[in-house]
Amino acid sequence: MNKIRTRIAPSPTGFLHLGTARTALYSWAYARHYGGKFVLRIEDTDVARSTQDSVDQILASMHWLGLGYDEGPVYQMQRLDRYREVVDQLIAQGKAYHCYSTPEELDAVREEKKARGEKALYDGRWRPAPGKTLPPVPGGIKPVVRFCNPQDGEVTWNDLVKGPITISNREIDDLIIVRTDGIPTYNFAVVVDDWDMQISHVFRGDEHINNTPWQINMFQALGAPLPQFGHCPVILGDDGQKLSKRRGAVSVTAYEEGGYLPEAMLNYLARLGWSHGDDELFTSEQMVSWFDGSHLSKSPAQWDPAKLLWVNAHYIKEADNARLASLVAAQLSKQGVSLSDEALARHLPQVCALFKDRCETTFALASWAAKFYADVRIDEAEFAQHVTDAVRPAITMLAVKLSACPWDKASIAAVIKEVLAAHSLKMPQLAMPVRVLVMGTAQTPSLDAVLELAGPTIVLARLAKA
Ligand code: GLU
Repeated sequence: MNKIRTRIAPSPTGFLHLGTARTALYSWAYARHYGGKFVLRIEDTDVARSTQDSVDQILASMHWLGLGYDEGPVYQMQRLDRYREVVDQLIAQGKAYHCYSTPEELDAVREEKKARGEKALYDGRWRPAPGKTLPPVPGGIKPVVRFCNPQDGEVTWNDLVKGPITISNREIDDLIIVRTDGIPTYNFAVVVDDWDMQISHVFRGDEHINNTPWQINMFQALGAPLPQFGHCPVILGDDGQKLSKRRGAVSVTAYEEGGYLPEAMLNYLARLGWSHGDDELFTSEQMVSWFDGSHLSKSPAQWDPAKLLWVNAHYIKEADNARLASLVAAQLSKQGVSLSDEALARHLPQVCALFKDRCETTFALASWAAKFYADVRIDEAEFAQHVTDAVRPAITMLAVKLSACPWDKASIAAVIKEVLAAHSLKMPQLAMPVRVLVMGTAQTPSLDAVLELAGPTIVLARLAKA
């Protein structure tokens, strides 16, 4: 196989969208699988909407996901000279031309065509042709540059995802490749870049399928080799509509902040449009070894928040406790809870070890951890249900005994047993109210482990609230 070179080309007009993250993952995995190169290009020619903040967010999300690129980021706005050079060449060869049509004229043509039931394509009035007299160049109007798209025939490519696709040239017109301000449009810049960067495989969202015939025609006009294209279906929200901001979080950043692990996001995104047998849980190394461009799904995948939580819970269980502790500490500090170095290094990892099995996100883990470092809010209904007059004497006895007990799990367990026996209680009758008092809720891991971690100061102060 020739040298494999893939790229991801986000526009910095917002955060890294989940759909773009997925195509970035496919492009990255494909390059890695074949020992090729993966390039990051920032498509910032929409000057009004592009921001440095978006660039920063996109780079941070790529870094967080672990999608390392071999080249770039390349910024299109730093390549304007190159685009100009290629445009001049196309104009000189009669493959592109200046068009002076005003927006009003274009609107009028569109309306006329619509009225006749035709597709509202550009009427070609500035397109040069042998023997054709062009209109006189009007004063005071800055022209755009249009590409001379072939007027007949069809464009066919064998899409890596969708299979053969054919679009007739009669369906498309002479698209604008340079705007009046001299800045190239997406379809043109993308071709020059994919050519210059020797991109061999383009994975992108299928909203670009209609752009591909133009791009292929331009590659051909330039005498440039064609990359292979793979158009991945959109990701749908749970209402069957395209995943969008209105339907929940669509940025990678939102999931990072919401307590998801990058390996869970990658694993989940990978499966949204690609499969390897029945495998649901796999590492990115496994994905790289499997991802050869086959088994990409033709039909749209549905975003499934519950499945993503399940995948995340799996990776939280697997995660190293010290790593979880540093993620949880960051969440806690956002809530204004700060920790001593000792707590960070030793105590918080133990808290993570004890609670991670019951948490789907590090956000949930942080809300458990907070109970060890800040005041606890007791669930009123659970308090009323479990902390009854009948059990108060046992709680008092427990507090007295614990205040004189060495603070380790075995000694705490022995004290609990003693109190149960003295008051003829079963474990839950004492454990439930104590959990409610110490952790704010009756659903916690085993009591002796929780009390040991909470430490005598917290436990005695909270038992006194019975
Ligand atoms: N800037 C385009 C986008 O974000 C890139 C499309 C492509 O990959 O060609 O949709």
